Amino acid sequence: MRIAVLSDIHANLAALEAVIGDLPPVEETWVLGDIVGYGPQPREVIETLQEIGARSVMGNHDGAAIGLVQSRYFNPDARTAIEWTAEALDANARSYLASLPEVRVDEPLTAVHGSPRDPMWEYITGPDVAEANIGAFETRLCLFGHTHQPVIFHDIDGEIETTPGRPGSRAPIDAATRVLVNPGSVGQPRDGNPDAAYAIVDVDRSGQALVEFRRVTYDIARTQRLMQEAGLPPRLAERLLHGR
Ligand code: ZN
Repeated sequence: MRIAVLSDIHANLAALEAVIGDLPPVEETWVLGDIVGYGPQPREVIETLQEIGARSVMGNHDGAAIGLVQSRYFNPDARTAIEWTAEALDANARSYLASLPEVRVDEPLTAVHGSPRDPMWEYITGPDVAEANIGAFETRLCLFGHTHQPVIFHDIDGEIETTPGRPGSRAPIDAATRVLVNPGSVGQPRDGNPDAAYAIVDVDRSGQALVEFRRVTYDIARTQRLMQEAGLPPRLAERLLHGR
């Protein structure tokens, strides 16, 4: 099965549209949460995901936007954006976000936003946190987001090997290993590359897979202009240009 894996869209419709325009033929699209927050078009992004039949999990920003998750742990810019987002959502968008599960399991894949042991909050930033999570899911592969960094953590005989998801790179995954895969962020990349990031995962039932990391340019100025018009914090718009 060939799956497009998108994460951390953050209400950036221009970035999402560029990714959809760039997609090769796939059977399903999975979204790893943080559909909203930071960006200017939360309703439109949700409607687009509904149109393409995407299957998503809930991120911390999604939960905060509908009051399910505390936003007091957010930094001031993120909290301002969440308050704006909560006002901008309509009934369709609120019920869509409320329907999202924290974990989605469909053999041989598990999908979460943060980490399998703490789906809403934990950041898998390196091999130590990856190692602590490698036993926390039942399937061979676990897809995660939240850090906005494209990467694969392989468990090779108890040692975690880190493979950065370089643009255009393809990583084969042996069915005998367990892996954590992050496709990077569609709508707010933070690896120094401002292009929208996503991955194609081609996987068979045994867990043997090929992961391809892809990047696509999008109209950053369009998103920045809409953020300015919405009165969202200028720093959130500025960082889109640098991918930081
Ligand atoms: Zn995020």
